Amino acid sequence: MKTLRFSALLGAAIFAFASPVLADEVVVYSARNEQLIKPLFDAYTKETGVRIKFITDKEGPLLQRLKAEGENTPADMLLTVDAGNLWEAAREGLLKPVQSKVLASNIPAHLRDPGNQWFGLSVRARTIFYNTQKVKPADLSTYEDLGSAKWKGRLCLRTSKKVYNQSLVAMMIAEHGEAKAEQAVKSWVANLATAPFPDDTKMLEAIAAGQCDAGIANTYYFGRLMEKKPGLPLGIFWPNQKENGVHVNVSGAGITKYAKHEKEALRLLEWLSSDKAQNLFADVNLEYPVNPAVKPDAVVSAWGAFRQNPLNLAKAGELQAAAVKLMDRAGYK
Ligand code: FE
Repeated sequence: MKTLRFSALLGAAIFAFASPVLADEVVVYSARNEQLIKPLFDAYTKETGVRIKFITDKEGPLLQRLKAEGENTPADMLLTVDAGNLWEAAREGLLKPVQSKVLASNIPAHLRDPGNQWFGLSVRARTIFYNTQKVKPADLSTYEDLGSAKWKGRLCLRTSKKVYNQSLVAMMIAEHGEAKAEQAVKSWVANLATAPFPDDTKMLEAIAAGQCDAGIANTYYFGRLMEKKPGLPLGIFWPNQKENGVHVNVSGAGITKYAKHEKEALRLLEWLSSDKAQNLFADVNLEYPVNPAVKPDAVVSAWGAFRQNPLNLAKAGELQAAAVKLMDRAGYK
């Protein structure tokens, strides 16, 4: 124990001498909750001696705060969910591009900003779920097919106000063009069994209860619900495997434009993409590691392998406004 503490001290001393400008803390604004990030940050502090201060809030207020604080912000890093939100933070000029070989090699290109302002750290798939008592997997094929006549009155969706659906539709526009994407969304609306749900979990429960037969949700909501109620007749399906793949999204982070501890923040970001941190980061919320070298949690692995849509997630931001307008035209509430 004594030797350990001594070598840790010595390590810290060498570190301090080698990099005199490095501060010993990083400040993070996080839209991900404390329960998820605290164990991760504690592990980082234990390993490096660098303290992490963080505040958690919803992404809207965090972006407002970053904007209002401007160059006086204490924040070095912004951590949030959905590429649409990360893209928006970059568009607002709140992030700064960083060059990192570590990030480029740990994170697949389609899951990070081509301009290097934000980086995916965990992956969630927005896929199809179905009632196993009423639907066979062979009945399912693509997102677009949920608009075909056989699903009339059998489909459930979450509200179009949620960024997850805005990103999904934005990626459909990127893939198919606006006309075809609009046709697909209109056909979903025509097949709805009931009004859109406020959240993914309520929608999954409606499918399990037989109020509808299929719907689209993020994988970790399914994982959480099945851990709580393992007997629910819910199945997971990977659509578009013969086409462009399953729609994925990320939670991720970027370095703030006015970071006071930029180098330390970048080091933390790189660590978050490493083997060691990736499991901690993804497993707590039943997500997929963004680093393809790292295996998902056993619960998540049991859902089977699937092909991801390889389109760059920056499209979710670039086409978000078009997606919102499209869903409005299509009558998707
Ligand atoms: Fe969520």
